[in-house]
Amino acid sequence: MKLFKNILISIFFLSYIFLVLWFFDITRFKLIQIFWNLAGFSYDIKQQNYKIYIPIQLYRPESMFVPEKIHIPVKPKFPVIEFHGHLFKTSEDELIQMMENTNTKIFIDLALRTTTLENYEQLEQKYKKLKDRLIIFPGLNWNRLKENNNQTGIELMAKDLEEIAKNKSIKGIKLWKDFGLMHRKKDGSLWRLDDPAFDPVWDVCKKYHLIVAIHTSDPPAFFRPIDERNERLIELSRRPEWSFYGKNYPSFDEIMKQRENLFKRRRDLIFVALHFGEFAHDLKRASELLEKHSNVYIDIAQRIDELGRHPRSTRDFFIKYQDRILFGIDGPPEYKKAQIYWRFLETDDEYFDYLPEDKSIKGLWKIYGISLPDTVLEKIYYKNALRLLNLQKY
Ligand SMILES: [Zn+2]
Repeated sequence: MKLFKNILISIFFLSYIFLVLWFFDITRFKLIQIFWNLAGFSYDIKQQNYKIYIPIQLYRPESMFVPEKIHIPVKPKFPVIEFHGHLFKTSEDELIQMMENTNTKIFIDLALRTTTLENYEQLEQKYKKLKDRLIIFPGLNWNRLKENNNQTGIELMAKDLEEIAKNKSIKGIKLWKDFGLMHRKKDGSLWRLDDPAFDPVWDVCKKYHLIVAIHTSDPPAFFRPIDERNERLIELSRRPEWSFYGKNYPSFDEIMKQRENLFKRRRDLIFVALHFGEFAHDLKRASELLEKHSNVYIDIAQRIDELGRHPRSTRDFFIKYQDRILFGIDGPPEYKKAQIYWRFLETDDEYFDYLPEDKSIKGLWKIYGISLPDTVLEKIYYKNALRLLNLQKY
């Protein structure tokens, strides 16, 4: 009797687990596949009219294309200044080793969560062996706006930044896409990028000559419905929180307009519009941005996927705006990831992956290299960064 009861309980629990697993497309598909294989059938059934439904997240076509030439650089042609780095869990020794492997001379950590002098000192302490090779760009203390009324909050935010700038001779700050898309006022409306209320913060940047590295918005596909027509469907189904579609958010163009107003209003500041100013998919707009605002620079972090699908126009663009583009890979200097950036910039290789195999893809396309001339490469790898950071050498 007891055995019978135990069997019943086990069946109950197993069916519960099974039901939970069945709920997810991916596990459901896998379970069906396992079942067919156990039953002695291959799931790879080639019968006519047999439709196989594969969740899009599992679709990873292997290209049958055979390249005529492959040049994968072992090292970048020139030393590198990483202008769009993040460290997160990277240890000090790991970072030093990674920088050696990728010939990264200076690493800029866009440390968004470093918002007070105390935080800053902790981070500095953690990487003290790196000395001048690590440059930290702290973030703004948005908590101040949660704790206080709007105007006082901004003033305290500016004070926190000034405290760091005064004591640490920092070179810049980092702003994230949450400015414009997530931070809301007490009345529930979003803070606008061009709101003059932020002048106390910009004035601190001006006073201490701080570069404003600003990530605004995201690729325009993130502002469209997550459906069968969205070219980043796979990416968005993995990270639905990256979607800014719907009435709670401004449109892509609206947020670009706000940023434009800010660039115009604060011509006294230097901005780096991160992720290619979010115009890697549309070089005409990227060009307008740089033409209209001589105080604006752009970086290539996480946008070679876009740039590498129109390599000829991109090459012309890089040559034309060779003094305004900075190198960055968005993260620690991982060799395999950096190598793809070198391949993209230096070679004319065709149709290759924009990220290493172990990283999640953005969409089902591949990229082409832009084989830049050495003089341009040198500027993008480190010379532009040196000039902007006001350093003589790395
Ligand atoms: Zn980043």
